[in-house]
Amino acid sequence: RLYNEVIELKGNIRVFCRCRPLNQVEIANGCSSIVEFDSNQDSELQIISSDSSKKQFKFDHVFGPEDGQEVVFAQTKPIVTSVLDGYNVCIFAYGQTGTGKTFTMEGTPENRGVNYRTLEELFRISGERIGVMKYELFVSMMEVYNEKIRDLLGENSNQPTKRLEIEQAAEGTQEVPGLVEAHVYSTEEVWELLKSGSQVRSVGATNANELSSRSHCLLRVTVRGTNFINGQKTRSHLWLVDLAGSERVGKIEVEGERLKESQFINKSLSALGDVISALASKTGHIPYRNSKLTHMLQSSLGGYCKTVMFVQISPSTADLGETLCSSNFASRVR
Ligand code: ADP
Ligand code: MG
Repeated sequence: RLYNEVIELKGNIRVFCRCRPLNQVEIANGCSSIVEFDSNQDSELQIISSDSSKKQFKFDHVFGPEDGQEVVFAQTKPIVTSVLDGYNVCIFAYGQTGTGKTFTMEGTPENRGVNYRTLEELFRISGERIGVMKYELFVSMMEVYNEKIRDLLGENSNQPTKRLEIEQAAEGTQEVPGLVEAHVYSTEEVWELLKSGSQVRSVGATNANELSSRSHCLLRVTVRGTNFINGQKTRSHLWLVDLAGSERVGKIEVEGERLKESQFINKSLSALGDVISALASKTGHIPYRNSKLTHMLQSSLGGYCKTVMFVQISPSTADLGETLCSSNFASRVR
C-alpha cells in the first residue's frame, strides 16, 4: 500500500444519494414527486411530507432523475480506481426495493452501471501503467442470504450449493476458503462472468427480483500488483455490493420464512450502519462481528480504506415513508 497520502478517516466515507425517475405505473396512478432538488446545490435535497412540511437532507452528492450512468460514474471513478494504489474500497447500494440499486451497480446492457465501468477503467489504467506496475485482476461473486454465504461463480446446475465460511487469517485479514477467484483479462470476460453469476443467483427463486431483494450480492475484485522498480507486491480488494432491500415489512402479514429473512436483513443492514457511523465518528470499537456482511468486509472498511454508500430513493408520493427512512439512514452514516 502507499501510505504517502494520509487522509482523514471521515474523508474516506462518501454518501451519495440517487433518486430514480417516476415510472410509468406511478405516473398512471397519479403519483407525483415529493423530492426537490436545488439546481445550485448538488449536495442537498428536500423531501415534502404529506402535511407539506419540508425536510432537508445533505449528502456528499445528490444525483437527480435525469442524471445518467456516466454522471454517476464520474463521481465514483476516483474512488474505485484508488484500489490500484493499494486502497481497499467498498461501494454499497442501499435502499428500498425498486429504487435502482441494481440499476446503479449492474445497470443494463445499454446502460451499464458502476460494476462494468469500474472494471473497464481498471483495465485501462493498468494498461497505462504497464511500464511501472504489473496488475492482475481477479473476480469473485457471492451472495449473503439469511447469514449464509454462497459462491455464485463456483456452482453449476449439477453441483450442490457450497456453503462458504469466513476465516480470520494470520495477517488479520478475512479470507473465504474455497471461494472462486476468476482471473480476468478483459471487460467482456467480466460481463459474461457477472451474467452467469446472476443466473446462478436466481435459480430456485420463483421470481428473480423477489429473491434478489432479500439477499446481498457482493462482487469482489482483487487487484494484485507488482512494482517493477522496487519489486514490491500488493494485494487490495474492491467490493461492489448490491444490498438487500431496506424496506420494513409489515409485522402482521409476515410470518415463517419471510419473517426470518426480514430479521436477517434488518440485522445486517443495521450492523452495516453501525460500522460506518462508528468509523465516521471515530469511536474506538467498531462492531464488525455483528453480521456476516460486516465481518467479511472488515479489512476493507475503515483504516486506509475508502467507502461509497449510494442511498437510492424513489421520488413517488407512495414511497414517502421509506424515502424518509433511507435518508435518515444516510444521515446516520455521514
Ligand atoms: P432495486 O435493485 O433497488 O430493486 P432496480 O435497479 O431493479 O431496483 O430498479 C427498478 C426499475 O427502475 C428497473 O426497471 C430500473 O431499470 C429502473 N430504474 C432504476 N433507476 C433508474 C434510473 N436512474 N433511470 C432509469 N431507470 C431506472
Ligand atoms: Mg435489485
